[in-house]
Amino acid sequence: MSIASLVNHAGESIADTVIEPFRSAHQGPVIRPADADYDSARRIWNASIDRRPGMIVRCTGLADVIAAVNFAREQRLLVAVRGGGHNVGGRALCDGGLVIDLSRMKGIHVDAAAKRVRVQPGVLLGELDRETHVYGLAVPAGVISKTGIAGLTLGGGVGWLVRKYGLTCDNVVSFEVVTADGQVRRASADENPDLFWALRGGGGNFGIVTSFEFKAYPVKTVLGGMIVHPRQQAKALLTFYRDFTQSAPDELGTYFGLLCMPDGTPVTAVVTCYNGDLAAGEKVLEPLRRFGAPMMDAIAPMPFPQMQSLLDGAAPHGNQNYWKSSFLKDLNDEAIDAIVGYGNQAASPLSAVLVEQYGGAAARVDPQATAFAQRHAQYDLGILAQWTDPAEADRHVSWARTFAAAMTPHQAGGFLLNFLGEGEEEAVRAAFGPNYDRLVEVKTKYDPENFFRVNQNVVPK
Ligand SMILES: Cc1cc2nc3c(=O)[nH]c(=O)nc-3n(C[C@H](O)[C@H](O)[C@H](O)COP(=O)(O)OP(=O)(O)OC[C@H]3O[C@@H](n4cnc5c(N)ncnc54)[C@H](O)[C@@H]3O)c2cc1C
Repeated sequence: MSIASLVNHAGESIADTVIEPFRSAHQGPVIRPADADYDSARRIWNASIDRRPGMIVRCTGLADVIAAVNFAREQRLLVAVRGGGHNVGGRALCDGGLVIDLSRMKGIHVDAAAKRVRVQPGVLLGELDRETHVYGLAVPAGVISKTGIAGLTLGGGVGWLVRKYGLTCDNVVSFEVVTADGQVRRASADENPDLFWALRGGGGNFGIVTSFEFKAYPVKTVLGGMIVHPRQQAKALLTFYRDFTQSAPDELGTYFGLLCMPDGTPVTAVVTCYNGDLAAGEKVLEPLRRFGAPMMDAIAPMPFPQMQSLLDGAAPHGNQNYWKSSFLKDLNDEAIDAIVGYGNQAASPLSAVLVEQYGGAAARVDPQATAFAQRHAQYDLGILAQWTDPAEADRHVSWARTFAAAMTPHQAGGFLLNFLGEGEEEAVRAAFGPNYDRLVEVKTKYDPENFFRVNQNVVPK
């Protein structure tokens, strides 16, 4: 195995005499390929991604981030930015360049009276939920507790509260950002509004966000959980799900799934979360609970953080993963047949298929009001291939690709930026949709050299 070295855009190695003064001035650890913790520092959620950065700098605060950006610019380095390291396409890492790792920046401050939360970019969703729950509050975010708030917010952010309170990015009040020139800027409705617009759905293209200020909402106990049926019921359950979700109130978030039990038994399930009056929620969920003869009905009132970690076991760190995801035009009978048919051919018991309903408050925002354009499609299909042996990659990737290709007639033409895998450049463009040209303008203003390019890239003019 070759030892990576830190190289610039011209492929020239950066000398130790240049690296060492930077290293000794940096507050957080600076990790190089010969260091004992190099392999653990370059590990991310998706073990399929095996990249060898030339150096990893763990920042402890704003000053470290500025110094790292300036060093990388002066030395002409390729830069990747790591938040929670959950991006399935491995956009937290690069080969040969510099990783600016924010995972140590874990500050969370809740202003309960103002219902505002300030969050640093190394925070994971479970850590955020834990702090806000103390005050009976929550910030709308994703459904797996180990996901990073930073990447999730910059790409939009969908989860159990999206229909009631909108996307995560819809709930940002302000950002603190270090742009490619090393300057610290604030982006809000009043300051740098173009940057504020672009950061809400435009991904990591515009700078390193060092602080997010969010709105929070009263969310304490929810009625949620999972109902499981035998896999033979998948078509009937998905058809029921389509009709059930059509009349769902904004308080209800509901995902349909094809998955396997821990012993490998294929099942079909609905996971749901009702955020509102619990008695009203019981009524709303009654048809779902009466449907068929479930193998398991684990819907119950629970603290919101518990709901937020309910699915964690299905997405552990360190497995091999490959995802395809797209919005669906609608869930017509042909789409349902295709989803169940291809879903049943999954090549691994760890793989899963999800149909997630969004809409609600997120869909009531003008698609051009923020960079996040994909507001009108109701259902997103996630084809999540997961396995453990790297040697088996071909057959699992091939299942996901064949499945996704077969779904083309049912696709709405839009994609969720956050779920895009490696190298899906066409889909990145489609995800930005009608907002792409405006994103190019903002990118050209704040990052004309495309310094931040290891992301779902918007190429400057
Ligand atoms: C198991 C799992 C479950 C998920 N569930 C959901 C879900 O429920 N809802 C949802 O919306 N998404 C979900 N996602 C997708 C997730 O939002 C994206 O993968 C997102 O990129 C993760 O952010 P991160 O900070 O953990 O990732 P990273 O891999 O660290 O970063 C992702 C991208 O964001 C950029 N970035 C990170 N931090 C910053 C920063 N501070 N400033 C500028 N750029 C930055 C990086 O450069 C990179 O391009 C899930 C992903 C996984 C793997």
